[in-house]
Amino acid sequence: MTKVPELFGSMVFSDKAMQERLPKSTYKALKKTAQNGEPLDEGVANVVANAMKDWAVELGATHYTHWFQPMTGVTAEKHDSFIQPKNGGVIMEFSGKELIKGEPDASSFPSGGIRATFEARGYTTWDPTSPAFVRDGTLYIPTAFCSYTGEVLDKKTPLLRSMERLSEEAVKILHLLGKTDVTRVSTTVGPEQEYFLIDKDMYNKRVDLKMTGRTLFGAMAPKGQELEDHYFGSIKTRVSAYMRDLDEELWKLGILAKTKHNEVAPSQHELAPIFSTSNIATDHNELTMEIMQKVAERHGLVCLLHEKPFKGVNGSGKHNNWSISTNTGENLLKPGKEPENNTQFLLFLAAVVKAVDEYQDLLRITVASAGNDHRLGANEAPPAIISMYLGDDLDALVRSIINGEDYHSHKASRMHTGVGVLADFKKDNSDRNRTSPFAFTGNKFEFRALGSSLNIGCPNYMLNTMVAEELSQFYDKLNGSDDIESAVRSLIREVFTNHQRIIFNGDNYSAEWVEEAERRGLLNLKTLPEAFDHFLDDKNINLFTKNNIYSESELRARCDIELEMYSKQINIEGMTMKQMAQKEIIPAVSEFVHELSKTVIAKKQVSEAVPTKAEEGLIISLSNELEQFIALTDELGKQIDRACAIDDTSEKAHYYQESVISKMNEIRELGDSMEEKTSAKYWPYPSYTDLLFSF
Ligand code: ADP
Ligand code: MG
Repeated sequence: MTKVPELFGSMVFSDKAMQERLPKSTYKALKKTAQNGEPLDEGVANVVANAMKDWAVELGATHYTHWFQPMTGVTAEKHDSFIQPKNGGVIMEFSGKELIKGEPDASSFPSGGIRATFEARGYTTWDPTSPAFVRDGTLYIPTAFCSYTGEVLDKKTPLLRSMERLSEEAVKILHLLGKTDVTRVSTTVGPEQEYFLIDKDMYNKRVDLKMTGRTLFGAMAPKGQELEDHYFGSIKTRVSAYMRDLDEELWKLGILAKTKHNEVAPSQHELAPIFSTSNIATDHNELTMEIMQKVAERHGLVCLLHEKPFKGVNGSGKHNNWSISTNTGENLLKPGKEPENNTQFLLFLAAVVKAVDEYQDLLRITVASAGNDHRLGANEAPPAIISMYLGDDLDALVRSIINGEDYHSHKASRMHTGVGVLADFKKDNSDRNRTSPFAFTGNKFEFRALGSSLNIGCPNYMLNTMVAEELSQFYDKLNGSDDIESAVRSLIREVFTNHQRIIFNGDNYSAEWVEEAERRGLLNLKTLPEAFDHFLDDKNINLFTKNNIYSESELRARCDIELEMYSKQINIEGMTMKQMAQKEIIPAVSEFVHELSKTVIAKKQVSEAVPTKAEEGLIISLSNELEQFIALTDELGKQIDRACAIDDTSEKAHYYQESVISKMNEIRELGDSMEEKTSAKYWPYPSYTDLLFSF
């Protein structure tokens, strides 16, 4: 390996590369655009494009692509070469126009009915706030994607808009508080990414994994995660080689891959980067997920990013560490030594508390997916009920504010290890709470309900928008007051008082919390269709339209797209299950029963005295289950037909959730029970032992 500092960012058109290759004035104009959101003129774009092309060609690039994040949930790219005919040959060219604007055919991307197929035109626009990079001989240009008529068709645009909104409102508040040197505020994100690695040969034998990303059948292995020996365990050689290779690929692209370790479930792992601005963190996380899968192939492995690939062991999530900081380098969610006297911190904290309470439904909606529905509330991930954890100290402070009592912060105490050779160290002020969906962790919030495959742009634009909205309401209340300090104090008290129900420091996995949350009037939206019933509530439409994130029609389109996506996914799962049952499992069990029957007959021929009870018992129980299994599979087929005939997207999603999924659960239970009884020689798929413990 070359030295990491040299390797790092070597394939990125970074700030350093720009400074080296752009004329000073061009570099300055570009920086202004990136930092202040000012539009870029075409002259500047031409110079940047040419320098970018030269740089990319030196790194072996022959093509460029506008890289974007449509509503499909994966990134999209279409490659164009730099060639331009000249004097019977070609030269390599790339113009400012090509850099700024692309025109992919938009008709095959989900638009939620916004655009008819005959209005196919769509545009991609360069996002200069996220650096371009070279991968596999292609220059990648991060872009936003919209329709000919300007409707947003991607996940990046709302994120960029929300970042600007939050910045505007936070700056206004900070100016009110006297911090007039602050001109811009950014949100920062560090996403911790979980994943599974399994052997590629095993994967190839499982049609369910190939079609749906998860196992639809599979009896539990004799061992799961009960010994707790995998979490932080020593990393196996093959996995370690994969991780090393992965880190290198990510570093080349300027991705700050930092931490790697084994997770709770067998074959499960995690990668966490160092945080960056929400926009770059999102692009980097999309890249990370893609590269994880590509690098796995090279190692004869498959990287599973599904939220619940295996029943009976933990699924995979993503922790979205989120904070707000100023261009002067201050983290606005840092309590400091005396949080009780830090009104600025308390005001921003109050904005987050109010936002999470008022828009619980949106936070739940934004993490909803067919895959994540298996995790939320399953005692391995935070429940579907959104609440906040502040830690003991901050909780006590909030309570003292509500009650108008004095509060003195505990100074961080020291940890005495009691062993001479071990150094004593400063303890954190609060212990960790691993069960809360939205936890304060010292100087940031950790939103833990995300599924592993989610584009983090979505939860982040929701968060940014709702906090921007609260700050704008705060500004309206505070602006013009004579005594700003006391006005802020009373506003903070009012907000904490009105929204204390959202704060919960206990065990979110307990049954008592479900009851308590209901008493508090908190929402418990267990599945995606239930959650999406709230997406278009008036308050949510108001939030997005008022803050210019979406128009009402764009919002309706998003809702349709997500519901349709859900229905399609469950449909694919149902169809795959039916196919596995009919083409493989039923014939396999049948054959095994036939084999057993032959054994019984053969034994009887030897002598009536040879016992055959065991085989007969097995024949009877498997035959009974098989009968039921076939009947249920038929019913599943009929339900899928019925679901396909439903037009209304919400009704359809509800039908899939309430009928198709529960039928699938019944089928799986029987299938797994038959797997346990059937000889491995006859069972058509690799078992959970093969999948989870093969290397
Ligand atoms: P853990 O959750 O395991 O305790 P850490 O506290 O080390 O992990 O941090 C988790 C993630 O939070 C990392 O990606 C880290 O870069 C990120 N993080 C730290 N500070 C901030 C911040 N101010 N804004 C956003 N993310 C942050
Ligand atoms: Mg974490």
